[in-house]
This record gives sequence, structure tokens and C-alpha cells, in this order.
Amino acid sequence: MRKFAETCEAIAGTTKKLLKIGIVAEYFRSRTVEEASVSAVFLSGRPFPAYDETTLQVGGRLLWQALEALSGKSAAELSAAYRRFGDLGAVAGEVLGGGSGHGEEDKPSLRSAGQTRASVPTHTGEAGALVPSQDQMGASGSRLAELTAIEAEAYFRRIAGARGPAAKGALVRELLKRATPLEAKYLVKIMTGDLRIGLKESLVEEAIARAYDATLAQIQRAHMLVGDIGETLRLAARGALGEAHMRMFLPLGFMLASPAESAEEALSYFEQASVEDKYDGIRAQAHVSAGEVRFFSRTRDEITESFPELPDALAGLPQDAILDGEIVAWSYSEEGAGRALPFSALQQRLGRKKVSAELMRRVPVVYLAFDVLFAGGELLLERPLRERMRALDDLLAAERVTHHRDTETQRKSGEQGRFIFGVDPGPVIERVIRAPFARVSKPEELEELFTAAQARGNEGLMIKDLESPYTPGRRGKSWLKMKRELATLDVVVTAVEYGHGKRIGVLSDYTFAVRDGERLVNVGKAYSGLTDVEIAEMTKWFLEHTVDDQGFRRAVEPKIVLEVAFNNVMKSDRHESGYALRFPRIVRLRPDKSPEEADTIERVEEIYRRQDGHGQ
Ligand code: AMP
Repeated sequence: MRKFAETCEAIAGTTKKLLKIGIVAEYFRSRTVEEASVSAVFLSGRPFPAYDETTLQVGGRLLWQALEALSGKSAAELSAAYRRFGDLGAVAGEVLGGGSGHGEEDKPSLRSAGQTRASVPTHTGEAGALVPSQDQMGASGSRLAELTAIEAEAYFRRIAGARGPAAKGALVRELLKRATPLEAKYLVKIMTGDLRIGLKESLVEEAIARAYDATLAQIQRAHMLVGDIGETLRLAARGALGEAHMRMFLPLGFMLASPAESAEEALSYFEQASVEDKYDGIRAQAHVSAGEVRFFSRTRDEITESFPELPDALAGLPQDAILDGEIVAWSYSEEGAGRALPFSALQQRLGRKKVSAELMRRVPVVYLAFDVLFAGGELLLERPLRERMRALDDLLAAERVTHHRDTETQRKSGEQGRFIFGVDPGPVIERVIRAPFARVSKPEELEELFTAAQARGNEGLMIKDLESPYTPGRRGKSWLKMKRELATLDVVVTAVEYGHGKRIGVLSDYTFAVRDGERLVNVGKAYSGLTDVEIAEMTKWFLEHTVDDQGFRRAVEPKIVLEVAFNNVMKSDRHESGYALRFPRIVRLRPDKSPEEADTIERVEEIYRRQDGHGQ
């Protein structure tokens, strides 16, 4: 990890993109393929490959405690360091390098983090990870073999597998004891999921191309297909990029949308749009092969087991296929018309290992399919949406799954297909629905659809360029989203935390509450959407009005009122109010309001009920 850490320092030390790429490429070449492959994942800011479902489950608090124990520093000293850097990794590099000599698990001073100047690795062919090349001083004062990236990954896996904070904490301390302060800095950064050295994954792709004499296009394509930067590197190193092929049950990246403020703006990017409702559920990629069906979330986790009623609905597809769509909670009304419910309804179905029949009946779900990425043995990503839509229709028609057609046609033909609006779902509930769409080229038409989508209780619209390819993992202007503005809440700030990155050293993360009689009960936490000047002023105010300094976090006098916007209200036991706001955003400060004028828990309950359709 020594070279890895030095390389990271060198990358952080320059803003020049080409230089960063050169440094990373040189580093890759100096390592064994295995070591380079693991490092490529680390350089993307992750402990494990993107497709891997393993998570460390190591939070800031646990790392904080490990640093406290290893450095022997007081909470105040750690807080001061954290305030200076706003980043636990940098804090680790600093406090473990100090060698205060007072800690229970005292660590002799090794190389201090700050001293190790960016040295660009230049030797090629140096002994790689599998053969530890250099001895170094370990925390116990004895000489330990250098920690390799491969060993670090093995530690990460053990930490992920350990049960409970005590077991995890012990392993984290063991790992950090093996490391020099500079290595610890980057190990902690990887554990927090953000290296903050100004290296995007796209630059890692460029570095792989440079290191192994491939074109960027070849790397990007392979990466998209295998879904793992480390595997991409291995293929490139073997000169085997051509072998990259789409694999069933290995999720591809998801295409993402950019926001559009108005109908005019939305239609300014392309001529003809295909417009669908924006449903508030879970994005899911369905892989169907030889009767086996699995669903993957946007984080590429498998979520099939939460929705046991869905696989059967797709198992009968005539060909292997990969579909893109949204899983939503669904309401079948009296006359058979259906509609999607908001996320709060679906929430009851999430995170369960076992889903009871009763729950499936109470909260039915459907898969609203809107795209197809692979069918008939062919990858369709590069085909325009217009063609992919036709392919999707063909697929689902063959299965006679639901189509957006009128009731009359269905009655006349006696089809069993299940329809989306105003149609009898019949005794057999089909659970796959082709998301209804409309072709639109005028802003007025879009406005009309937007109003209709909202009237159906959906979030707004998705507006898609009919000529666009499917670009996994990218947020471009080919897909746009237009959302409704929900009501806002006036809330009171009760606790604050230091920010990250650009917000180092300022108190920019706010926990906020609504009134519950005489009390205040927390409902959410948001990163500040305020201006830098406002944040600076607020930081000063919060420092002067802290009631409890907990190091990481400060409880503050409940005086500051904010207006927050959000997508939804959810039931949650995270906050004492019993509710949480989904995607809260701070709209503005409300200095004109006193805490007594803040909104109440009753108002939150009312918004919650209304969004569930009771009051609509
Ligand atoms: P956002 O999460 O606000 O960035 O919006 C993008 C998300 O909207 C996607 O990841 C999907 O989960 C969701 N979504 C809902 N309906 C659709 C749709 N018809 N097409 C694409 N995405 C949709």
C-alpha cells in the first residue's frame, strides 16, 4: 500500500488531468496485474468492486473510535484535526503520524503523512504485491512486511464479514496498525468511500488504456460490459478486451436522467420525445435467462428476494433478456384501474429476507418495464430508444404481458393481457406492465401530461430522446426528469456536523426537527443548500450556540429555522418523530420565523397521509 498511498498523494498534488492519468498508468505498470486490479477498484473510491454486494458497514463513529484508540489523542485534539481537514482519512494520516506516545495502543512515529512528498512511482517491474518487497516498522515496533493492496482487500472482506461494531473495530485497528500513517490515511479514505484526490473513475479508465496500450473506447466498452474496473484492467493487461461480453446476472450500469425545469427546456434538447410517468419506486434491471429471473437495484445489489411474486411474471419470456424498469407498489382499484403508489407504500416491502403472503397481498408490487438492453442474443445499448421500444413491445407482446391498449380491443379479442389504466386486472394479476408512453413534440402537450401524471399521484415525467442510445452509468441530456414541487416544511436546526470536501471546517450538515407540542422531534438531516457566505455565518453562530460538543457533531440551541423541500415523507425509526423526509434539500433560511412558528408533527403526518392517496 506504500506505493498506492504515494501515488494518491501525487494525484492529489496536481490538478492536471493528463498528469493524473500518467501517474496512475505508471503505477499500474509498476504492479503485478492482481495488485493493479485491486488498486483500480480502490482508486475508484471503493473497497470492493462496484457489482459486489459486500459492504463494510463501518461508519464514521467506528473509524473515529479506532483513531482515538490508536493515536492516544484526546477527543478535542481529534476534533481539531477533523475541523482542519473535514476528512477522516486525512485525520488518520495526521494523528497516527504524531506519535504522541500516550495511547494505550501506542504507535511509534513512522513516516509522518505530511512529510512523504508525492513521489511518482517510476520503476517498472518492481516486485509486486505477492512478494512483499520491503520491510517496515509496524505499530508494535517490530518489523512487519509491507501491507499490500491485496492484503488490504482481504482485511476489508474480513471487516465486512465481522458481526457487530466491536469485532469490526478490532479488525479496523489491526489493519491500521499494520499501516504507516500515510497508508492509514488512504485505507480510511477507502473505508469512507471517497478518496478525494480528484480522480474520477473515467480517469482510471484512461489510465488503464494508457498502461496497457488499449484505446479508451475499448476500455469503456469492456468496463460497461463486465461492470468492474478491476476485471477491466485484468482483461486489458492480458490483451483480452475482446473477450468482454455481457453476462447474464451481472448487472449493467443504469442510464440516468438530468433535471429539466420546464416543458420548454425539456424539449429544447431534442426533436421528438417519448414521455412516461416518473414513478416513485425502485429502479430495477431484470435479467431473464432460461426461465431464471433476477432483479438488480441501481447499486447493483440483487433484490429478487424482496419481490418473490415478480420472477414468475417474466420467466416465460421467449428469449433471454435484460429489461430496465421500476418496481412500484401498486393499487388495484374497484373497477380494475390501477395506479402506482408512492415510495412510502413500497417501503414496507424493502429489506426483508422473507416476505409473507399477507404482506404480498397487502402491498402488491408490479414491474413497470420501460427499456430493454439485451434481447434475442443481441446487446441493444447502441440502438436508438425508438428501436429498443419496439423490441420491448415485441418481447412483452410475445408473452402477452400487459400492454397499453384500450379495453375494447382487449374485450373483443378476449385477450388475457393486463392493462394499466382503467382495465380489469382479472383474477390473474399480471405483474409486468409496459410503462405507458406518449410521443410528444410540443411544450403544451408536455404540460398536459405533467398535470395528468401528478393527478395519478406520480412524481412527474421522464422525457426521453427517441434517437438516443442507452448510456449506462451516465447522466446526460437524453433522459430528462420533470418533478413536482411538494410542499415545503419550516423546521428547526437541532444539531450540526462538519461538512466534507469543499465544506471542510464549516458546519454544513444540519439535523432538523418539527414541533410536537412543547417538544422538538427530529425529522431529517440535510447537507446545506445555502450559499458559502450563509454557511460561514451559520457556522459562527452554531459554534457560539453549541450546547453539547460531541466531536463529530454538535447539539445546538434550537433557534434557527430553515425551509426544506423533499420528495416524500416516509415512516422511519431513524428519527424520534417516527418519520423521515426523503431527499431533503434546504431551500433557504427563515430568519423571519421563530422556532415557535416552525411546522408541527401533525403537518408531517398530514403530508404523509395525503401522499398515500387518502386525501387526494
Ligand atoms: P432521480 O432518482 O430523481 O434522479 O430520477 C431518476 C429515477 O427515476 C430513476 O433512477 C428511476 O428509478 C426513476 N424512474 C421512475 N420512472 C421512470 C421512467 N419512466 N423511466 C426512467 N426512470 C424512471
